[in-house]
Amino acid sequence: MAITLKDLAERYRITDGAKFRLKHFDPADTWKLNSKEHAKALLGHSIVQLAEMQEKLYAQDNWAILLVFQAMDAAGKDGTIKHVMSGVNPQGCEVYSFKSPTSEELDHDYLWRCQKRLPERGRIGIFNRSYYEEALVVRVHPGLLAKQKIPSQLVTKHVWRERFEDIAGFERYAGRNGIVIRKFFLHVSKAEQKRRFLERLESPEKNWKFSAADAQERESWDDYMAAYQDIIRHTSTEQAPWHVIPADNKWFTRLVVASVVVETLRSLNLAFPKVDIGRRKELASVRAALLGQKTSSSQRPG
Ligand code: ATP
Ligand code: MG
Repeated sequence: MAITLKDLAERYRITDGAKFRLKHFDPADTWKLNSKEHAKALLGHSIVQLAEMQEKLYAQDNWAILLVFQAMDAAGKDGTIKHVMSGVNPQGCEVYSFKSPTSEELDHDYLWRCQKRLPERGRIGIFNRSYYEEALVVRVHPGLLAKQKIPSQLVTKHVWRERFEDIAGFERYAGRNGIVIRKFFLHVSKAEQKRRFLERLESPEKNWKFSAADAQERESWDDYMAAYQDIIRHTSTEQAPWHVIPADNKWFTRLVVASVVVETLRSLNLAFPKVDIGRRKELASVRAALLGQKTSSSQRPG
């Protein structure tokens, strides 16, 4: 039986993290899809559907979608965002990349900068990295937590559990306001990351993508994986599920992410706003008036 977008969207979804173990997920998995051609056809099909539903999302102006992307470097976040969103109207989409916090941002609570970037109704918002960095890079490098200037008596051994709770609370709040959240961990293997770093070093047109700091982070690989596992265990919910996306094959990563976005939009049963009788009459009379007008091109000089 042929694989559907729905099958793909569901396979990697985590709605309850209690039993989640990262080791059960293979970064090189391509499920039963072994032909890139078949995958590309499915991706093309999903991009068309996405564009159609985005127009309705925008017209209806009730729901917003927030797609959160987290990954190790070179896992393919940028390329995935670019390909999956290639068909959507740029006016209905906002991408924001979260970098190391500025001094102004460090003077606020950590959700402050993310709250400001939540998508407006009718839009698809994309977080390229997110508030999850607060329990990833900040956990792996404790010096970063010290820089946050939080009163010391509030920073206890429970700090990570508290962050999971607060993040889950923030997501619940957003959900109750009509912001539908879907989270993606692009799960690349350490060996594939090495191959991609070497490619960046060896081909001149990819040199710009290489950063020595990224290579340095490889030394903390196991700590990062443990932090990712903990995040997924504690912040996966029905309303804001994580998706652990195999990322060793870019074509497969893009297809699975696109499937999730399409299925999410489909689940909202979007429709263009209905026009009531009064409005229909108004439109009809404007149309009649327009038809009755002489246009300048038909007014030939006598
Ligand atoms: P690319 O390398 O493809 O441009 P990127 O997302 O890796 O994309 P960089 O500018 O290389 O962008 O890295 C951003 C850095 O900012 C990452 O190392 C990330 O861990 C760090 N960062 C993001 N949020 C926080 C945070 N809240 N606290 C500390 N560091 C953070
Ligand atoms: Mg980087």
